Amino acid sequence: MSDPLPSLPPRRRSLRRAAELAAAGLVPAERIAAIDAVAARYAVAITPTLVDLIDPADPADPIARQFVPDLRELDAAADDRADPIGDLAHAPVKGIVHRYPDRVLLTPLLHCPVYCRFCFRRERVGGAAGTLDDGELATALAYIAAHTELWEVVLTGGDPLMLPPARLKALIGALDAIPHLQVIRIHSRIPIADPDRVDPALLAALETTRSALWVAVHCNHPRELGTAAAAACRRLSRAGIPLVGQTVLLQGVNDDPAVIEALMRQMVANRIKPYYLHHSDLAPGTSHWRTGLAAGQAVMRHLRGRASGLCQPTYVLDIPGGHGKVPVGPVYLDGDQVTDWQGQMHRYPPV
Ligand SMILES: *Cc1c(COP(=O)(O)O)cnc(C)c1O
Ligand code: SF4
Repeated sequence: MSDPLPSLPPRRRSLRRAAELAAAGLVPAERIAAIDAVAARYAVAITPTLVDLIDPADPADPIARQFVPDLRELDAAADDRADPIGDLAHAPVKGIVHRYPDRVLLTPLLHCPVYCRFCFRRERVGGAAGTLDDGELATALAYIAAHTELWEVVLTGGDPLMLPPARLKALIGALDAIPHLQVIRIHSRIPIADPDRVDPALLAALETTRSALWVAVHCNHPRELGTAAAAACRRLSRAGIPLVGQTVLLQGVNDDPAVIEALMRQMVANRIKPYYLHHSDLAPGTSHWRTGLAAGQAVMRHLRGRASGLCQPTYVLDIPGGHGKVPVGPVYLDGDQVTDWQGQMHRYPPV
């Protein structure tokens, strides 16, 4: 007897092994063994949503470049650092990084929907060892509860929206119950990489009764914000969640003022306020991603005046060694000379 109803297509799986990448046309067959050597060192995953956005015929495809492993990742550069922004120097208990007085990072797990090849935590993401068990999570929450100077908790990882909704709900509820916390911020790649996960169960898990919950969406190229990702962002903003965008400046992906301008405009048109443009960190095997600070300053100079003020992120460097993030220009004021967006100098105060 034949089944009268067509069965639903199975949910497609993420690509993780070199042979799967080769079958999808993303790496040449003769490079499978070499790519597996990279994958043995650094986690690999590309979701079906992102696979669909890749043009395999384009060797410089900006989506493929961000997620398909590259043999250069095994090259060491002199300035690489295993802990590029000094997280470990400020980790009082497992899963907490406390660098600034008013806010902490909480990393409930180190899994991500995709693994960005330039990740600043690439030495640690991907493994189950990074997932806090119930006891470790209780210790981290006790640390936050005991530090009454904390105003904000930043959930990051890994990707906190990878937690099963019931677990996420319990975590958000526990944070919402800590009276001195006013803000819960979640840094995530899920709206871009796996937008179908932004479903009613996830939205319900993000409801708070007291504190404000913000989501920072990591997005590096205008093509990442396709129809499905835009719809996921809309569901989040309809739920009353303000969205901010963070972007990493990447050689060969977005180190071009026109690309960043298009991305910033697309973010704002999707109710995402550009927050940070990050200068790339000194993570191991990522020297081929780095630009000079001058490239980022040129991007920022291009944006100023040509694009709406809403489209202006802050260009920041996370100072190696754990010294925090600072804006790195460009600078418009020098003594009594101020430069306008077209490069003309003016005296201020005027004579
Ligand atoms: C990036 C970061 C933050 C958040 O910094 P904001 O400037 O508030 O976005 C907080 N703590 C640590 C350790 C960080 O690395
Ligand atoms: S989503 Fe974030 S934490 Fe995960 S691999 Fe990408 S940059 Fe790293």
